[in-house]
Amino acid sequence: MDTHGIQMKAAQVFKKLGVTEEDLRTKVHVRFATHNRTTAIATTKFSVRRDVNDQPVYEVQFLFSTLLWPKDANQENTIVHEVCHAVNDLRWKEQGKPGFPQGHGMEWRAIMIEAGVTNPQRCGLLK
Ligand SMILES: [Zn+2]
Repeated sequence: MDTHGIQMKAAQVFKKLGVTEEDLRTKVHVRFATHNRTTAIATTKFSVRRDVNDQPVYEVQFLFSTLLWPKDANQENTIVHEVCHAVNDLRWKEQGKPGFPQGHGMEWRAIMIEAGVTNPQRCGLLK
């Protein structure tokens, strides 16, 4: 799957989880990037800043390993997995909770199921 495919799939999953196109234009900024490390197929970075009106702006960065991504046995599932991390962090912060949720904790698992994944897995599989 190429960058366009990744973006389309991510947008679809965000929508399914209640993050609207307007959210993505305004308060949730999503970026896609790559690196050459082999620690994970993909990772998600999430941070919050405040705009000039002191409203929260959420920065999501999806990072894909150029080395592992082509070997991912289920790329669609990996995208769902990462978007669920972003939505988990987003909901956590929107609820005003301190810190961040556990990476693959019960909240993330519940969001994966909401996204249609019947058996959420911590790690993706390589071909
Ligand atoms: Zn994960």
